[in-house]
Order: sequence, then structure tokens, then C-alpha cells
Amino acid sequence: MAEYTGRCMRCKTDRQIKDAKETIMKGKVKMRAVRGICVKCGATMYKILGKA
Ligand SMILES: [Zn+2]
Repeated sequence: MAEYTGRCMRCKTDRQIKDAKETIMKGKVKMRAVRGICVKCGATMYKILGKA
């Protein structure tokens, strides 16, 4: 399984994303994103991958 890192808003630093799952964010433009949990503090993290 691929590992992702993203910026945790709570830690205010880059963290590995635990339980990362790809998802599609629906808005004006569909965006591929990864949603998961910060390994350090458990906050929900998103990483935008790009346009779907
Ligand atoms: Zn965190």
C-alpha cells in the first residue's frame, strides 16, 4: 500500500498519513485526494493529489 505524507493542521508540520484512502472531493472541480489520520495526534488529514 502506498504511503502518503501531508501537512497536519494540528501539528503544523508534515506527517505520515495513517489509514490513507484515496477519495474524490466533489466541488466545482472534482479533485482526487487522500484522507487519513495523522500518525502523531490523530487529527484527520487531507492531501490533494490533483484533478480527477
Ligand atoms: Zn497531527
